[in-house]
Amino acid sequence: MRKKVGIIACSGEELLGGTLSRAAARIVVEKLRSQETIILCAPLFAAGGLERHGGQEERNFAKEHPTITIEGCEEECAKIAVDKYSGPPAATIYIQKYIDAHPELKSISRESLGEEGMKLAEIIAEDIAKKVDELFIRK
Ligand code: SF4
Repeated sequence: MRKKVGIIACSGEELLGGTLSRAAARIVVEKLRSQETIILCAPLFAAGGLERHGGQEERNFAKEHPTITIEGCEEECAKIAVDKYSGPPAATIYIQKYIDAHPELKSISRESLGEEGMKLAEIIAEDIAKKVDELFIRK
């Protein structure tokens, strides 16, 4: 059976990068690579002691499957948590790189990305989907 890739988006609510990271993750898991990927919850991952919410399960899954983290800023919270509890992620996506590369696509706000922000999230999601494909090819 093919293994799934775990997608872990940063949980930042204060920065646009956090909103974009979660929007891109949803597009990958719900639309582009629904059979190959699963979302892992970043806060639950970091707080693995919350057994009844499955935090330890998230960590165990990430130990046994490749993971891709998506970072809303340079703090790399998702990467640090995965690295600490389950081992290094297979790939890390930095949202700022895409914001800088596409100044023409302006999100309305961090609460509402709007049409252009969603377009940017789709561009990011396409790149994540390519990384997923690479991980399957590498197997
Ligand atoms: S990576 Fe940045 S935006 Fe995301 S949770 Fe950490 S500090 Fe917040």
